Amino acid sequence: MPQAITRQNFDQWMLPVYAPADFIPVRAKGSRLWDQQDKEYIDFAGGIAVNALGHCHPQLQQVLIEQSARLWHTGNGYTNEPILGVAKQLTEATFADRVFFCNSGAEANEAALKLARKYAHDQGNPQKRGIVAFKNAFHGRTLFTVTAGGQPAYSADFAPLPPDISHARFNDIESARAAINSHTCAVIVEPVQGEGGVIPASAGFLQALRELCDQHGALLIFDEVQTGVGRTGALYAYMKYGVEPDVMTTAKALGGGFPIGAMLAKEHCARVMTVGTHGTTYGGNPLAGAIAGKVLSLINTPETLAGVSEREQYFRRGLADIMQRLPVFSEVRGEGLLIGCQLTERLQGKAKAISLAAARQGVMVLIAGASVIRFAPALNIPFADIDEGLNRLAQALHAVVQEAG
Ligand SMILES: *Cc1c(COP(=O)(O)O)cnc(C)c1O
Repeated sequence: MPQAITRQNFDQWMLPVYAPADFIPVRAKGSRLWDQQDKEYIDFAGGIAVNALGHCHPQLQQVLIEQSARLWHTGNGYTNEPILGVAKQLTEATFADRVFFCNSGAEANEAALKLARKYAHDQGNPQKRGIVAFKNAFHGRTLFTVTAGGQPAYSADFAPLPPDISHARFNDIESARAAINSHTCAVIVEPVQGEGGVIPASAGFLQALRELCDQHGALLIFDEVQTGVGRTGALYAYMKYGVEPDVMTTAKALGGGFPIGAMLAKEHCARVMTVGTHGTTYGGNPLAGAIAGKVLSLINTPETLAGVSEREQYFRRGLADIMQRLPVFSEVRGEGLLIGCQLTERLQGKAKAISLAAARQGVMVLIAGASVIRFAPALNIPFADIDEGLNRLAQALHAVVQEAG
């Protein structure tokens, strides 16, 4: 018999870029998950805003099985029916005229930034190459996207970095106005900063970015990798804000747990990406396409989207209850089922410790920086699972507060 796999094997064999929990999940259903010891967890993390329909959704499983018996991959010398179906769904549902498919959020943003540079090049202005991004933003881990991200800790060690990327202050119109000029080819922004602490943009801020981009001939790119596919209660967050980008990226929930990403663009800028200018081997494969098509058809319904807002209210009421009993959160913020809880003064820096305590009590939560607890549960999480998960979280918080004294 082969030796059993344990958590220690991670430290032995894996590139040490993560510090995963001390248990190994082995199976899951809906919003509940079990580890090797058959301990049960309520999932408030959703695989980092990915498992938008919960784990092992029967209709996604069905599509996966059916497509896996038909066609998995052909390479980009051939197109396929499932992915063209997703392109139709996305262009019909959004501002966009064209879609490029890839496998992750970082790749989608990489494509968006390359498109922006080429769009400016094609206008014959070599000076127009500046990319304006925002402090604390997160756009992925490729060298280009990690440089666009506004957390120098993630990029500095990999210098030299791609030049002409600057960072204005998020939600600060004057700071954006000072950074955006005729040399700017694109502005990239998350409608709600996810990794940066669950900080929603103000409507006025996104509107001002739209106007500044129009004024200076720059493309406005919305990174909706985390906020997209129903997360905020709208199919895409820009729809709630009423501000349209020229380019938008989506990934995470788009595959409901199967890797897929996409960059969406208006015709006027999409057309610069001519044959051979960009590509990927796996992007837009039929297996990913079949699953994403089903994910979109299940999420983009008035019932599912309304359900997100109902669950948000329910979740927030539960958090308010906890706050009445325990002085743990100074603010609860976010949009839809992307919720961030700012820890109070005495719990500063304790987000990781709280997430570990939560796991011990049987609930999985995310953090966003050292002092924010983040929730990104399935959009269809049962109300009973919200209750049970919050009960377990309250026990964990109680324990951490006792320890903090
Ligand atoms: C997760 C995330 C990314 C990166 O996506 P990957 O699939 O991890 O490459 C980019 N932007 C935002 C806003 C994200 O939340």
